[in-house]
Amino acid sequence: MSRAAVTVVVALTLMPLAGQGPRRVSLVLTGGTVITMDADHRILAPGAVAIDGSSIAAVGSPAAIAAAYSGDVIDTSGDLVLPGLVNTHGHAPMVLYRGLADDLALTDWLQKYIFPAEAKTVSPEMVRIGTRLAALEMIQSGTTTFTDMYYFEEEIAAAAKDAGLRGVLGETIIKFPVADAKSPAESLARAESFIETFKGDPLITPAVAPHSPYTLEKDTLLACRDLAVKYGVPLLVHLAETEDELKISRETSKLTPVGYLESIGFWAPRTVAAHGVWVDDADIAVLKARHVGVAHNPESNMKLADGVAPVSKYLAAGVAVGLGTDGAASNNDLDMFESMRQAAFLHKVETRDPRAVPATVALEMATMGGARVLGLESEIGSLEPAKRADIIVVGTRRARQTPLYDPISQLVYATHGDDVKTTIVNGRVLMRDRRVLSLDESHVLDQARQFALKVREAVAR
Ligand SMILES: [Zn+2]
Repeated sequence: MSRAAVTVVVALTLMPLAGQGPRRVSLVLTGGTVITMDADHRILAPGAVAIDGSSIAAVGSPAAIAAAYSGDVIDTSGDLVLPGLVNTHGHAPMVLYRGLADDLALTDWLQKYIFPAEAKTVSPEMVRIGTRLAALEMIQSGTTTFTDMYYFEEEIAAAAKDAGLRGVLGETIIKFPVADAKSPAESLARAESFIETFKGDPLITPAVAPHSPYTLEKDTLLACRDLAVKYGVPLLVHLAETEDELKISRETSKLTPVGYLESIGFWAPRTVAAHGVWVDDADIAVLKARHVGVAHNPESNMKLADGVAPVSKYLAAGVAVGLGTDGAASNNDLDMFESMRQAAFLHKVETRDPRAVPATVALEMATMGGARVLGLESEIGSLEPAKRADIIVVGTRRARQTPLYDPISQLVYATHGDDVKTTIVNGRVLMRDRRVLSLDESHVLDQARQFALKVREAVAR
């Protein structure tokens, strides 16, 4: 839609019909600084947003919205109102392994802690308890859409829906026997029935999640692609995360990980590659040509010492880039405000150029960029009429938020997840003034602490 057309739509939706009063809507947020993240990066100070059911009815000045709409009002005076944050890569239940082991070489960390813990504790119960904990943390820190690759994905979807979060979720397919499947064929069957169950769901976008090129045979990789194409769903994959992965790929196929996937014709129309650290210029051109989106996980990449993804090069080449946290075992939290800040810092230090990844780019990656990576750019990522009402309200009254000259700078360089006051997904208020409404907070935390005893026991032996 052109800019002129958008203006017309806004004007029309703002006009009360002659002889009728303001149109009744479900919720009006008014008085705050509204950061739309639309194509023109409009900021309304002050502004207002009218929400009608699950979607945004209009965005405008407080006076224009009040004239055209009535409904329950949340006064956001002094606050920042922006699109909910989009996490493009993670493994939600792994919050239960948060802080289990840190500061280890990758193979020690995986072989001695994460794999044994997973082998002994991954179950429908673990996934349910872990996803509820992750959902609580995401709601409290302003994430409204999350991406997930794990096991028993149907439990993750159910827990996400209960909590009210939007999710792009894929059943993991990997060549080893895992908790929910003895073989890749069984995982593929689970993935297909997961897609059939959740296709068309208002909150869940089902996906296919082949773990990575080095943990799957070619035939399975292609079967995953075929499944994604058959149902028109995203294809989520870990790609070019570590230097070891690049070495193994060169030894086995004489190609880079991206080059290998290109050579076998792996890509689907909506492929999301997590990490993309070890890529060369030819790989970046392939990702661009194949419309592959990159999920950049600065904190996980730093903590595991993977290397630095060439984000500035991706953006210059026109590759869609979103931000992710990865699992909490390698982050160790799900705070997307930290992901924004760390992305900005990491690329400044890497390029020795403080102009690299400026605040506007970091915020774009966490909102519209993420939406584009997931193929959801017409639904989420900005505050515009007819989009889903996924909105967060950030307070600016704390010491670290004072004074406030530039709201975008403040969001990226000073804000923490716990500055989020209110979180709305699909028009439903999940947290208001820091009180989470869709989950029983103390119950969620108690269950997670109880389950952690089993995790500790699993790795102690
Ligand atoms: Zn991951």
